[in-house]
Amino acid sequence: MPCFAEKKRVVIKVGSSTLAYAETGSLNIRKCRMLVEVLSDLKNSGREIVFVTSGAQCVGAAKGGFHGKPKDMPSKQACAAIGQSELMRFYSESFGNFNHNVAQLLLTRDVISNNERRTNVINTFNKLFELSVIPIINANDVVSIKNLDFDENDTLSAIVAKLCGADLLVMLTDVDGLYTGDPSDPESKFIDEVDNINYDIIGMAKGSGSAVGSGGMLTKIEAAQIAVDAGIDTVIIGNKDLRILYDLFEQDSTRCTWFKAQSDNL
Ligand code: GLU
Repeated sequence: MPCFAEKKRVVIKVGSSTLAYAETGSLNIRKCRMLVEVLSDLKNSGREIVFVTSGAQCVGAAKGGFHGKPKDMPSKQACAAIGQSELMRFYSESFGNFNHNVAQLLLTRDVISNNERRTNVINTFNKLFELSVIPIINANDVVSIKNLDFDENDTLSAIVAKLCGADLLVMLTDVDGLYTGDPSDPESKFIDEVDNINYDIIGMAKGSGSAVGSGGMLTKIEAAQIAVDAGIDTVIIGNKDLRILYDLFEQDSTRCTWFKAQSDNL
């Protein structure tokens, strides 16, 4: 496992299970504050940080008085609208405390297929990097079309990594990486490095994450495939102590799973 010290443009994807309490859906302020502090510091160290955040729907559901995340589209979309502004208020204020400006980018899947939209998003990223502003991305759930848009943010984060020309994609999650089986089974072995995402690897990635998140290990592996095919190293890493992100750039034995960029496909 290498140290990623040389990586300069980094996409960090954080899911609802990190940002919000599973029991209530409300913002986990302690974790969110720590996250903002670490990302601010990584930026201060000279990196360009792109932050992909989930959490709008569950934070919106809690704020809107729903009991749990709703299932019907109008309620989900209303919750996304309520929660997104709450998230951005928090991020804008918290990053501001570290003297960093943020920008909100809400994307739909047609950024892949529509050339003009893709170009516009790429231009926006480039200008934001020039301005030293931290782009904060979520899916534009309010205008989303069921099954055609980003219903989880793992795929979104890989697309974002491609669009912004990242050299590293980091997906934080409840487990510390990929295991050969159920992570709670002592027989399961931890996978440090993946050279090639084959059927064995996909077979290991069964089941979904948590009560509040939408993705799971499988969507992370699919996202990793998109990123590594585009020549972007990808890491799945645990969200228990977010200071582990420092280790990723400073130490060479950080516990995580590294999916190696496929330079042949470039
Ligand atoms: N866009 C969804 C939200 O902000 C997140 C989907 C996911 O959990 O990955 O609630």
